[in-house]
Amino acid sequence: MTLIDDARALLPDLVALRRDLHRNPEVGLVLPETQRRVLEELDGLGLEITTGTNTTSVTAVLRGGRPGPVVLLRGDMDALPVREETGLDFAATNGNMHACGHDLHVSGLVGAARLLAARREELPGSVIFMFQPGEEGDGGAKVMIDEGVLDAAGERPVAAYGIHVATGPWGEFSSRPGPLMAGANQLHVTVHGRGGHGSQPHTSTDPVPALLEIGTALNAMVTRKFSVFDPIVVTVTQLHAGEAINVIPPTATLGATVRTLSKEHTDLVIAETRRLAEGIAAAHGCTADVALDVMYPVTLNDPGEADFMADTLRDMFGADRYVDLPVPMMGSEDFSFVLDEVPGAFLFLGCTPRDRDPRSEPWNHSPLVHFDDEMLADQAAALAELALRRLAKGA
Ligand SMILES: [Zn+2]
Repeated sequence: MTLIDDARALLPDLVALRRDLHRNPEVGLVLPETQRRVLEELDGLGLEITTGTNTTSVTAVLRGGRPGPVVLLRGDMDALPVREETGLDFAATNGNMHACGHDLHVSGLVGAARLLAARREELPGSVIFMFQPGEEGDGGAKVMIDEGVLDAAGERPVAAYGIHVATGPWGEFSSRPGPLMAGANQLHVTVHGRGGHGSQPHTSTDPVPALLEIGTALNAMVTRKFSVFDPIVVTVTQLHAGEAINVIPPTATLGATVRTLSKEHTDLVIAETRRLAEGIAAAHGCTADVALDVMYPVTLNDPGEADFMADTLRDMFGADRYVDLPVPMMGSEDFSFVLDEVPGAFLFLGCTPRDRDPRSEPWNHSPLVHFDDEMLADQAAALAELALRRLAKGA
């Protein structure tokens, strides 16, 4: 029996687990029921298990029967505060929804753990299974790193892999070397003036015109200061100034989401925005503060690991099942924190039901999105095979 055959034999169990999780979605860093379910599933596999302190994570280490390096496999566990509208018989009813498919990630990683535990004797090294809460904006990966997940096996992993299910052609794996998903950053600009009476602005220093000019100038900044071959997105989404309509406020603030594909451009955004905001504010007799909060770094696939991953998947499932993406996605993912520390690669798996056209299907995060769980066997097999082959390559 090949690993894929073994994985397909596990499919009924993995589907049942996925649907259980789907019925009971939990949001954020604290997912007690999901954690309980994962622990139950891993029980008896002979793994070294630890749980998180500041989050309900589960870290499980499988020690192979032969010496070798460490590989990390990750699955995120959290749902979204989305009210499900799929009408599926296992749809959630508690106001949350696994609308990003993390229920499949948990189930697929459990499958990989079972496949690899059954091959413990031939395994040349150790595998860390990282079950992570809080991907959707809470930076759960960072919390787990701070709590030691990367050192759980006693030495740092030589590689880390993760899979994300997505609206896309059924069973199509896709990724690319280098940047795969954007870094997500929050830009905050505050202009300080001097408040006054709205009827006589010349007696105050109005921060509002300065802020409006800064907002417009940010668009020009994007096209004049950043190479089009390393694109960024700057979208002003918040403007705040004043309470009363006849009062000039002392401050005015702007918020923008900034997506970048390189650390260089993340650093450049803050430097260029500061220059722009301070200069424009000064021209109006105001001052400006600029801050950039890096929420999630760029998800950067190591080129060697991405090639290894692509070769492995083509070899396992056939060349037509893997697509090399021409461009990154501007969405973000906190597996980036792991890839900042450990070389590795992240991968998408298209799970739109095969009888539907993915181009017209609702996307991840939609209350209508539907992921086909028949792909769970291939997902589990892919993770397990990546670990097996990477361990066999050595440190
Ligand atoms: Zn997700």
